[in-house]
Amino acid sequence: MTRDLRPHPDTQPAASAPWRPTRQRTAVLNALHGRTGFTSAQELHEALEADGVTIGLTTVYRTLHALDRSGRVDVVRDRTGERLYRHRPTDGHRHYIVCRDCGLSAAVEAEAVERWADEVAETMGFAEVEHTVELSGVCGPCRTEHRRAAAEPPPPRGDRGARRADS
Ligand SMILES: [Zn+2]
Ligand SMILES: [Zn+2]
Repeated sequence: MTRDLRPHPDTQPAASAPWRPTRQRTAVLNALHGRTGFTSAQELHEALEADGVTIGLTTVYRTLHALDRSGRVDVVRDRTGERLYRHRPTDGHRHYIVCRDCGLSAAVEAEAVERWADEVAETMGFAEVEHTVELSGVCGPCRTEHRRAAAEPPPPRGDRGARRADS
């Protein structure tokens, strides 16, 4: 029963949303494969167009949603609430911490979350329980930048006092 909590997309059929590969779905999945970090639908759409794939932005959104439902992608949100997607590694689902300022994302150790989810599922008598846990914050480099910005007055601009060229 516990294996339902850690789906392995390549070895287990998706329970609720059967995946039917279409040309466009395959193109979107391949484009996701080719990227390392989290990607917005818009960025993915641009990458596809750059590769000569004719696909509407709406189709990209819909396809990503379908990928999400069938457990083939990891989803996080950026600071504006936009959903960002990443191809899910084949060794099971992961949890990520994401910087709201620069978008940096990193996989985190989440054994405690997995144990807790297992226990809740068992206690509540549920099967095929899925969970989404997203951590977001401000990364180290961004915090350093914030502190520096708060401590120092704004740097003098070399051109501020200069006369405008067109005056
Ligand atoms: Zn950052
Ligand atoms: Zn988990």
